[in-house]
Amino acid sequence: MNSNNNNNNDSSSEDDINVYETLTKLLPANELLPRKLTIDIDVKSLYPLKPLPQFYKTYVPFLEESTHRHCAITETAISDENRTLLDYYDENKQNLVYKRFDQLDLGKRTTNDRTYFATLIANFKKAHPKVFFRGEALFDQKLTSYTFDQIQFDSNFESGNLFCAFKKSENVFDLIIQNDINTRGNTQWFFFSVTGAKAGQTIQFNLLNHLKNGSLFNEGLQPAVYSIKDNQINGTEWCRDGFNISYFKSPFIKEYPLTLKKKYYQLRFHYTFKHNDDKVYFAHSYPYTYTNLLEFLNTQLDDQERNQHLSRKVLCTTLGGNTCEVLTITSNSLQRRAYRKGVVFLARQHPGEPQGSFVMQGIIDFLTSNNPQAEYLRQNCIFKLFPMMNPDGVVNGNYRCGLEGSDLNRRWKKPNKYLHPSVYYAKKYVKGFSKERQIILVIDLHGHSRKQSSFVYGCAYSSQVKTIERVFALLMAKLNPFMDYPSCTFRIENAKDKTARIQLWRELKINWVYTYECSFYGQQQKHYQIKDYLNCGVSICNALSQIVKDTSKEFTNQANVPDIQQQILEELGKMPQTDDQDNGSDSSQSEAELSDDELVQLFQPKTYSTKQKNFLKQQEFNNKKKPQPVNTKPTINTQKTSILQESPSKNSDQKPPMSSQKPKNTQYRIQAPQRLKQIEQTKIPDPPLMVDKSVQTDDWMYRQWLIQIGKMKKQQEYQSCTPTRNIYKSSSQSVTRFIVKNNSTKNDRGRIDSISLVTPGLQNKLISSSQQRQMMRYSGSNFMS
Ligand SMILES: [Zn+2]
Repeated sequence: MNSNNNNNNDSSSEDDINVYETLTKLLPANELLPRKLTIDIDVKSLYPLKPLPQFYKTYVPFLEESTHRHCAITETAISDENRTLLDYYDENKQNLVYKRFDQLDLGKRTTNDRTYFATLIANFKKAHPKVFFRGEALFDQKLTSYTFDQIQFDSNFESGNLFCAFKKSENVFDLIIQNDINTRGNTQWFFFSVTGAKAGQTIQFNLLNHLKNGSLFNEGLQPAVYSIKDNQINGTEWCRDGFNISYFKSPFIKEYPLTLKKKYYQLRFHYTFKHNDDKVYFAHSYPYTYTNLLEFLNTQLDDQERNQHLSRKVLCTTLGGNTCEVLTITSNSLQRRAYRKGVVFLARQHPGEPQGSFVMQGIIDFLTSNNPQAEYLRQNCIFKLFPMMNPDGVVNGNYRCGLEGSDLNRRWKKPNKYLHPSVYYAKKYVKGFSKERQIILVIDLHGHSRKQSSFVYGCAYSSQVKTIERVFALLMAKLNPFMDYPSCTFRIENAKDKTARIQLWRELKINWVYTYECSFYGQQQKHYQIKDYLNCGVSICNALSQIVKDTSKEFTNQANVPDIQQQILEELGKMPQTDDQDNGSDSSQSEAELSDDELVQLFQPKTYSTKQKNFLKQQEFNNKKKPQPVNTKPTINTQKTSILQESPSKNSDQKPPMSSQKPKNTQYRIQAPQRLKQIEQTKIPDPPLMVDKSVQTDDWMYRQWLIQIGKMKKQQEYQSCTPTRNIYKSSSQSVTRFIVKNNSTKNDRGRIDSISLVTPGLQNKLISSSQQRQMMRYSGSNFMS
């Protein structure tokens, strides 16, 4: 902080002051037209959505919580059977009472949309090929017939994600949650509605396929519940309800990776319905949809007082076509504008953590208010807010990922412009902002499903030395009754290296970059309510105004103002040592996510020549006829070659030579394509799981390829190498980098990819092989940066 003294005292700064003072004396420009800042609410979903009730008309406190009737059931008899949900489905399909997307005509969707759907339920493909494939009906069997007084489920609304429901007995239902789009799972968030129950009827819900092995549901957390009737009669809004709640290991193993035989986790709860003809919503936490955000922003911008300080700008359009916005809040007076500090808030990278949105709303609502503290902050700071980084995930009911199936908060190191546009542009935006002015604080807002209270993850090289990084965290905790400083950790974890927090801390050298986590539950066995989350936002602003007052000494020269930062540092020094163990990490990368290869796969245009298609069919045929010798170990290269290449290489031995000899030419030529029949010798592995071979399409071939890649990668990890027409080599130390200019296909013309080989000797033989030609397209930095 002190380093700024110099900058602000030099002569150019004084000139700036003069300029700005002159400017502030000018009359404001006439406003000829009233500003219209609100936008039409436009939510783009992968499937048609029904409207949700107006959940959040007012933020009045909730009624008293229903008495806590939690009692954990310890599941004693967990079968050791290796049953998957597919097996479950098979055994129970006659009891199917709800399936999502039942009414949709998926055949009319564009190719890309269908790609999303395909992997959405990839797990269901193998055993039930007609359940769903590329626009075919999702389930071939009919729902069990029901009458209108029976229990009915729904999840075809924003953020809803119940995939299907089975009636086990009159009052017991088994539910399966939809995978995050384009992933093999990531199921933790849930949101669905129930109609048709009678007053006094108690239903047991079993959610069969949760991802995480621990949950606050075993510590007293209850599901969030909203009853339409109760709202009409008593004004009850979202509250926590349900009893006999337990979270335990499910008898079903995860379909991926099947070899590890990891089990799903199951949530069981009971709920007694209060009214006849009611519709009751159940969720992991109080939902906050994309529509909720747009409505909130529109009301802010409709307000003539508030919209003076608030502007909105489109940051980018997401894969799903939704708009990701960036808001700016600051005083519109020009006074001292050059000296305002930068502050950045982010929320909803993880769509299934709506707490972040409530905290964000609390921040926006406070900063645009006429509170003197807010006015002070507006005059001393410029706020950049990214209120919903992942609108696609929120709209489509995801828990952790965006539409392309990866965790956006693991993409900050090198976000891809096309796959992770909101991260790419937000990072660019924040970097630009940091060049314009000093950013003192960045907070990324999240929800935590395993720890109570609210707390931050910060960055620090040492967990022992109490450095400046902790100061703002302690200050926030002092001002916020909902925040627990001992729960905070300050570390640079390898597993979280690609998060917004660590990347911005590293690249922009900002001390105070935090991931702010709010529990799904609450603290001291008491549930957080919506207003508590909102108040967390207000508290963050209060803490910030203390610090800003402190740093404003730099140009007001009030040397006798007590230095808050110094005080807090001293206080930190007196605190007992903690080893900063984070036992409840909420952020480990999930095996349910697709690999980079698979992602590339999904978003690659799918074109095959007739020759390639025929070749694939022939291979399949030959493979059935004569099984290959066991000792032919297929490699990634041969797999890719066999499936994708139109021509094989002369080189039957795919193993790269381990010679240390470096190729002398800097430019290589690829050999002319070889005869087709030679490929037939390449071993084709068993048909992959989860693919219905009766519907082989271009997409099917692609999928087959990608599954093979995944398999092969596990078996042997050696660097894949490359490529096409023109290869330029540059070497440094032990790494050889190839830069490949791709002239081969129209789409890729002129694109430059690069790949690094750690062992210089590898290239010699491989480069001369035409087989690797296609591979380069998938390992290029364009795609997977
Ligand atoms: Zn999160």
